[in-house]
Amino acid sequence: MTDKVVVITGASRGIGRATAIAAAARGFRVCVGYASNETAARQVVAAIEGRNGKAIAVKCDVGDERDILAMFKAADGFGTLGALVNNAGIVGTTSRVDEMSAERIQRMMAVNVTGSILCAREAVKRMSTRHGGQGGVIVNLSSVAAKLGSPNTYVDYAASKGAIDSFTIGLGHEVAGEGIRVAAIRPGLIDTEIHASGGDPDRAHRLADGVPMKRVGTADEIASAIVWLMSDDASYVTSAILDVSGGR
Ligand code: NAP
Repeated sequence: MTDKVVVITGASRGIGRATAIAAAARGFRVCVGYASNETAARQVVAAIEGRNGKAIAVKCDVGDERDILAMFKAADGFGTLGALVNNAGIVGTTSRVDEMSAERIQRMMAVNVTGSILCAREAVKRMSTRHGGQGGVIVNLSSVAAKLGSPNTYVDYAASKGAIDSFTIGLGHEVAGEGIRVAAIRPGLIDTEIHASGGDPDRAHRLADGVPMKRVGTADEIASAIVWLMSDDASYVTSAILDVSGGR
């Protein structure tokens, strides 16, 4: 148990929501980041408070550095930062690379890659013993897409997650001597609304038969792995990437 703050980006829905609730159950004070769905974020805060946990909702589009700085300022007022979950991520509509606009690719990288790196920068400034902090954990959300490449679907998304894998390894080494562990989860097909936002709501269930375990995963199954990485049970785990994908 801990009473430190965890900042979770994109915690209003899906994997981020499940992680917020699981982290609060382990004593974390949760900063629930969201992009635009304030109602959903407030529901997550209410769910946590209903179980005697502590949470605040903070609007933060991780594609905007000003929002990131404001979110960490709000987190500073909530307690001592002990963890960051770089969960916010977007997909585009199903497309080939020769159909993609520059704007789409730039937005994908701004949210999925630059946003994660900037949030990690702010977390390291607060948690690193080099800066007078008490240490902590950063968990990044990658995807099995980083290994599969997602041809004819969203190669730009897959490439953004490949960048997250490299970032996890490099940052983990950089801050390993400063009390900070860095790890990533590579989810497989998980039952959330991200598939609908890519224009293909049935995608996960349609592809489930191709998963060795023959089913999609749940947000709670990803959250379990994330909170394990955040815990002292994972005290020797850093620069590591864990597939939670039913074997996919
Ligand atoms: P989701 O159900 O679509 O939820 C997305 C969450 O991120 C929402 O809370 C949303 O906030 C927020 N968000 C969207 N754009 C944002 C932005 N620009 N800045 C900050 N927050 C933003 O997604 P999910 O399936 O839970 O995915 C979470 C992470 O897991 C992502 O990084 C995704 O790539 C990764 N992942 C998911 C799967 C899967 O099958 N679901 C598989 C592999 C990896 P609002 O509610 O305000 O819109």
